[in-house]
Amino acid sequence: MKHEKGILTVLSGFSGAGKGTIVKHLLAEYPGTYYLSVSATTRSPREGEEEGREYFFKTREQFDEMIEAGEFLEYATFNGKSYGTPRAYVEDLLSKGCDVILEIEVQGALQVKEKYPDALLLFVTPPTAEALRKRLVGRGTETPEVIAQRLSISSKESAFIDKYEYLVINDELSRAVLEVHNIIQSEHFRAHRCGEKISDIRQQLEIFAKGED
Ligand code: 5GP
Repeated sequence: MKHEKGILTVLSGFSGAGKGTIVKHLLAEYPGTYYLSVSATTRSPREGEEEGREYFFKTREQFDEMIEAGEFLEYATFNGKSYGTPRAYVEDLLSKGCDVILEIEVQGALQVKEKYPDALLLFVTPPTAEALRKRLVGRGTETPEVIAQRLSISSKESAFIDKYEYLVINDELSRAVLEVHNIIQSEHFRAHRCGEKISDIRQQLEIFAKGED
């Protein structure tokens, strides 16, 4: 079946909720179905990260120039660093009917919703706050201060969860991945997204109706 415009899905979630892993699995399990937007950031690359794969790493000056030039669909500050979604890539894919995923934090997600009321906002959370804390501690890579800081950011972010369309509880990874996939796919069949299909059926019915006169 021919779909209309692509769906812009925004995936946010607490640090440690596993949204990055969900996206990776989604791309791997449904090849060619979803396109992930690569953001620009002023933060430094972490070990193993590659320019253009995880992020486009920018200096503060370069990032500010991109803002000036209107190159961002949204941008926000997280933990003292800037992050932004390059507009052209996303708009081009959506107009071609491709489904695009943005993995971004809450402030950016709300900007996207304002500009694209049709965007589908999904919030990923572990089943409980305790599970989140355990995951952050379990990584073993962060100091207690950093963990406390992450949890404090999560607490602030939790105030915005009800602005999202769906809550994805990442209890079991494979189920969470399937849920995200199902939510996006169902979204294609919302009547307001199927304008072309509906007007085709109406036109054909009109012709039949006239023929019966
Ligand atoms: P990290 O530095 O851990 O890769 O990302 C920190 C936070 O920034 C995460 O919540 C991530 O989803 C978010 N983020 C990544 N790219 C963007 C972006 O383009 N815009 C916004 N608003 N947030 C982003």
